[in-house]
This record gives sequence, structure tokens and C-alpha cells, in this order.
Amino acid sequence: MATIFSATEPDDGAEQSAGGEVSKGDPVDLEKIERGVRLILEGVGEDAERAGLQRTPRRVAEMYAELTAGMREDAAEHVQALPGDRHDEMVIVKDIHFASLCEHHLAPFVGKCHIAYIPKGGRIVGLSKLARLVETYARRLQVQERLTSEIADTLFEGLTPVGVMVVMEAEHTCMTIRGVKKPGAVTITSAIRGGFRKDSRTRAEAMALIREK
Ligand SMILES: [Zn+2]
Repeated sequence: MATIFSATEPDDGAEQSAGGEVSKGDPVDLEKIERGVRLILEGVGEDAERAGLQRTPRRVAEMYAELTAGMREDAAEHVQALPGDRHDEMVIVKDIHFASLCEHHLAPFVGKCHIAYIPKGGRIVGLSKLARLVETYARRLQVQERLTSEIADTLFEGLTPVGVMVVMEAEHTCMTIRGVKKPGAVTITSAIRGGFRKDSRTRAEAMALIREK
């Protein structure tokens, strides 16, 4: 029997996302971003001094600081086994919402992440921790393929489970509102580690549970 959690259901509330925290790596240089945004405004032919745009560079700088907050966090610290658990059946957490930034266009891509893993030695991780793991990697400049692999690798290394499967589906605004303009196009990526690689039946079972509405 697999245990399935939907991330859209309310969590135990024990852990709220700190959002935008800045702890690791170089701090954000807000003023530098502001200068850049002012140049963009001038570049598109705007008057950066008009009333509606006066605070825009600051707002954009703060938004990018928040959307890249994961660069200054250590994702591995979210993968710590809950003490005293003895669950060894497949665990699936689906519909973890995420928003990331495509590194080619600095445009958002938004979607859902589904994580399946088979614990070993009873080591499981809390639902809120998985959501934080996804968020830490999503809040960086990314490509969806790397984002998916990083989540799978960190979970596989941190929890040493039998297997891990991560499936992500997202709409990339750089595809839907510009360029080829394909609204509704969804990009699906997956990363499979450990036992799921060899065992196609378990992989199919996990996929069916993820797809189930
Ligand atoms: Zn892009």
C-alpha cells in the first residue's frame, strides 16, 4: 500500500515557509538590480521618472530577491528523516505547487511537482520539508530538467531511500506568452533514482498514483 499525500491539503502547520530569507551565498545587491531595471525602462522607451514607474525598479529588485531566495539556502537541510518512524511502503506527495524562473529569459515557469519515494529503514521526511526542498531549488534561475534532477538527487542522497521519482509539470511563460506562443503547453520532466530505475512495475504504479485525480 502506498501512502499518498496531496500538497493542496492543509499541512500540520508546524512549519511555515520563511519566504525570501537570505542566509547563504552572496547577498542580493538591490541597488544594482534597480539600476538595471531603470535601463530596461529607458531601453523600451519609457520615462523612468513618471509617477507610475518611480518605485518600479525597487519593486522589481525586491521581487527578484524573493524569486532567487533559494540561491542563498541549503536545500539539503530540508531532508532530515523524522525520528521514530517505521514506514517502508511507497510514499507519494503530489501537487506541490512551485514557481521558478527560466534562466534563458528570466521569465516565470509555474506548475506542480510530484514526488514518490520508497523509504529504507523507516526513514521518511515530513510533507512540509518536501515542499521546502522543492521551493529552495525552484527559487533559483533554472531549467526544468535540472530543477527536477536536483530535487531527486538531494532526496536520494539525504534520505538514502530504496528509490526516488520526481515528476514536474509546468507552463513556461517564455513559451506561452512570447516566441512560439503556445498557450496551455505543459512541459513534463521526470528524474528517477535507485530502485525505480530497475523496477518498471513500481515505476508504473507510482506514475498511475500521481496521475490519479
Ligand atoms: Zn525561457
